[in-house]
Amino acid sequence: MKVGIARDEKFLEHKTGHYHPEHPKRLDTIYRMLDQQFKDRLILVPSLPATLEQIERIHTPAYIKRILKTAEQRITSLAPDTPISAESYYAAWLAAGACVNGIDRLMDKTCDAFFAFIRPPGHHALPDKASGFCIFNNVAIAAQYAIDQYALERILVIDWDIHHGNGIHDIFYESPNVLYLSTHDLMMFPYTGEIDQTGSGKGDGYTVNIPILREFTDDDMIYLYQEILRPLISGYRPQLIMVAAGFDAHTDDPIGRSRLTEATYGGVTRLLKQLRSSPENPPLFYALEGGYHQRALAESIKTILMELIGSDSPMPLLTPGQAVTDLVAQVKKIHLPFGVFNND
Ligand SMILES: [Zn+2]
Repeated sequence: MKVGIARDEKFLEHKTGHYHPEHPKRLDTIYRMLDQQFKDRLILVPSLPATLEQIERIHTPAYIKRILKTAEQRITSLAPDTPISAESYYAAWLAAGACVNGIDRLMDKTCDAFFAFIRPPGHHALPDKASGFCIFNNVAIAAQYAIDQYALERILVIDWDIHHGNGIHDIFYESPNVLYLSTHDLMMFPYTGEIDQTGSGKGDGYTVNIPILREFTDDDMIYLYQEILRPLISGYRPQLIMVAAGFDAHTDDPIGRSRLTEATYGGVTRLLKQLRSSPENPPLFYALEGGYHQRALAESIKTILMELIGSDSPMPLLTPGQAVTDLVAQVKKIHLPFGVFNND
């Protein structure tokens, strides 16, 4: 696969304070890994700021104005957990734009897959509110852009960050054009994403919330994604697959309290590569969300990129536990009335 990436030193200028987990060093470590492991093997997609119009499709004018005003202050607290610096507004603008540019390069087939190595993250950002270290909702802005610019009607957004992406969830809750699938720990911030929240109105059935257990292993998670994504991709036929790629469910993460390793992220990527081959051959888009252990973050991303540029290999033999097989059955039962899953 031809794999594009976005990276820019400007993302490092968004400062959150010495003790904040969402620190510039996260990206610094990723960029060094890219230089060491993937020199000349990836297509660099330049990051340009999003247009005001693109951001206004998701965020309110009053909120955008408030973000612009932060350029006048050395430090602003947008939310108790979201301190930002004078340079942050530009990083946020550029992060959204990097995602939009990635969509363009996927749609014109310069790349088959694209990964935006950006910060601040986005999946908790609401139309009029920053929270959970997020300012603009990068994935939502890019998904809306793909709908507006390329008339896409079916975008699958997978969110494997350990925190529920309440921003993406709420923004597209009534839309059938974006199917939001999240695996998350319900007992963590923002404490949303109940299994029986399945969308509403025209979006009925197009939200799939899967609260996972902290005990889940790599095998459990890969099995879960395999059993859910097979019927989902065959039923929904996405034209674009986007991943809100947070890595805080990694066992080494200081926040996530879970047990996964980079094998999960590699395994699900291998699965996506396999499943995208039919029927629509949708491109794959990833944007960085959380993940606060530097080595785990770099290793997880390396594993994904290796899968994307490497040759196809069969899925590993999995030994899932009883809890995950029960959970998969429960999700399918809840979603049975909507017919989005192809339950053949
Ligand atoms: Zn997270």
